[in-house]
Amino acid sequence: MSHAAIIAANGDTIHLERSAMPFRDVVGHRRLVGLLSRSVRRESLPPSLIFAGPDGVGKRLAALATAQALNCIAPLVSDVPEQMEIDACGVCAACTRIARNVHPDILIVEPGDNGSIKIDQVREIVERAAYRPFEGRRRVVIVDQADALVPAAQNALLKTLEEPPSASVFILITSRPDVLLPTVRSRCPRLSFRPLGPADIAAALEARGHSEAEARAVAATADGSLGRALEAHAGELVEAREVAQQALADAAASDDPRRRIEGAKNLLAKTGAGGASDREQLASHLRAMESLLRDVELLSTRADVRALANPDVQPALERLVRTYEGERGMRAFTAVDRALMALDRNAGVKIVADWLVLQL
Ligand SMILES: [Zn+2]
Repeated sequence: MSHAAIIAANGDTIHLERSAMPFRDVVGHRRLVGLLSRSVRRESLPPSLIFAGPDGVGKRLAALATAQALNCIAPLVSDVPEQMEIDACGVCAACTRIARNVHPDILIVEPGDNGSIKIDQVREIVERAAYRPFEGRRRVVIVDQADALVPAAQNALLKTLEEPPSASVFILITSRPDVLLPTVRSRCPRLSFRPLGPADIAAALEARGHSEAEARAVAATADGSLGRALEAHAGELVEAREVAQQALADAAASDDPRRRIEGAKNLLAKTGAGGASDREQLASHLRAMESLLRDVELLSTRADVRALANPDVQPALERLVRTYEGERGMRAFTAVDRALMALDRNAGVKIVADWLVLQL
């Protein structure tokens, strides 16, 4: 996916939609996508919905695919079970305008530079949604990162979510649904998007020109997020895994706290810029560590090796099994998870790394 952007006359950057696509091209989520397609065909789509799930798994693309299916001029319809009941053609005027984010009936609201969605933004879309669609059959209002709606903005949206204008559909996208007001949540049925499987991510990467080996290695450390896999440089994810693998091996080699703290420095590789980028760097090492520990668990329980997320480093995994099988592995996994949560809450990278190496 390419990020296209144009600069408006007033200096604002306008991001063109990242290749919006029909249902059939959405990676993974077959059951949810099938459900959306069926609801569009049978005109039973609820007028207000929450798409919940981790970042980068395709929630926004699924919302845009829904907008296309609702407004496509020449939709593909099928009565074959196993097939999508209805899907956008992807090439008509309506589909291409939605893909380019210039369709007058598809309104996308997202946080501004200050990171929140203000009440004025909501008032504007509520007003616009009250009119009949200009061109299409259904107006679709997509609120991306809906958890960024300030409480007053959520309250301004409530009445509309409760009794949406007849031709409008509201889709609230969020990775943190629990941050939304209970009154908002109770009015919108929730579709939960799961992390993508490594196989889905690898296939999507291969389709974008990565080699099979590289795609599998990147998919293993992307933590179920195709967005993350695409954004991160492939080589960086593989490097993160090497750091994680070494840290686990170091901890296996010595119980001496001083030596372990010494080893924490390796875990902090490529940090030093300070702030959020350091936390993100350490987090990428820790996500790679979680992926390795999951595989160690798989190997130690003699599960099918085809289920490994990191099959290309199986010999190294086998060595780690000797230390991390059973309870120690579970403890290590829990510790890594806690470390990631601490980073999420802005804990310092050195404190987190030092603490973690003592827990492994
Ligand atoms: Zn179309």
